[in-house]
Amino acid sequence: MTQTSSQLSAPHEAMFLILPYLTLFELLSLTQVCKSFRDALKHDILPWLNIVVGKPINTRFSDEFLVKIMSKAKGRLNVVALRNCYKITDEGLLQVIASNPFINKLYLQGCTSLTIEGVIGAIKLLTKPNHKLKNLAISGIYNVKIEDFQTLCYLMGINQMQMKQITKNFYHVRHELYAFKQESQPSIDVDICQKCGEIREVFDCPRDSCKRRMQQQQQQQQKQLLIECRGCFLCVPRCEECGVCTKDEELGEAACVDILCLNCWLHLPKCNFCNKAYCNQHAYQQHVGSSLGFLCSECSFHATQSSH
Ligand SMILES: [Zn+2]
Ligand SMILES: [Zn+2]
Ligand SMILES: [Zn+2]
Ligand SMILES: [Zn+2]
Ligand SMILES: [Zn+2]
Repeated sequence: MTQTSSQLSAPHEAMFLILPYLTLFELLSLTQVCKSFRDALKHDILPWLNIVVGKPINTRFSDEFLVKIMSKAKGRLNVVALRNCYKITDEGLLQVIASNPFINKLYLQGCTSLTIEGVIGAIKLLTKPNHKLKNLAISGIYNVKIEDFQTLCYLMGINQMQMKQITKNFYHVRHELYAFKQESQPSIDVDICQKCGEIREVFDCPRDSCKRRMQQQQQQQQKQLLIECRGCFLCVPRCEECGVCTKDEELGEAACVDILCLNCWLHLPKCNFCNKAYCNQHAYQQHVGSSLGFLCSECSFHATQSSH
């Protein structure tokens, strides 16, 4: 067999190992790099079996684009993770689900144009006998009632008590995407908040003293107190950086809207002028003026105002 020029310039084999772990934005960026990448991605089905859509293309990601991208998997999609894809509707989702019955992870956090009825319709298709759906994420979808949550748990074969014991859900890692993690138990990202009764993401407390207290109560089977600092983000305020409950605690002053516990605040860089700190997620708002640190956006705004 003679080597053609395209074989000579074919991308390194190692590239194919990482392709299934890239986000859609990264995949699409690769197709712009050179012709050999573009060809490789065009002819290989593997990179398209796990589709992860997040920033920065989430806001523009439409039903039409969704159906087009998902069709590249030719019915073999494994992972579909759509984060804050506000434009995706029930129609688009169902179209993809109907032609990809073996999806095992479906993440739809913050896809606010979806309805819970649409999601339940999709899950019915994905939980037929021999189908593989293991993990579902729906936090941020509006008007989810307790009955809807129970229907989803029933369809997916989720034992709610068992789920709580096996997986701990921590606030400060909620943005991490577990799309490629192998999980043995079926799971859903929301729960009934025992404080407000709403279906939301419910967080466990990583504070050592809280964990110890919970264990003691578990042993004494005091159910009422057990849930003391387990709750949704509205019921139990938490430190953005480490996820501990912050009720009755002294707090550090934050330059963003988030809450910072004193311990995390002490370790974070602070504004030269007002001594407030940004959480890591909002650290990009720091205005670096000199080598001596930064100004928060508010202080920087006042500084430019007074200099004119
Ligand atoms: Zn709540
Ligand atoms: Zn903290
Ligand atoms: Zn706590
Ligand atoms: Zn400041
Ligand atoms: Zn913040």
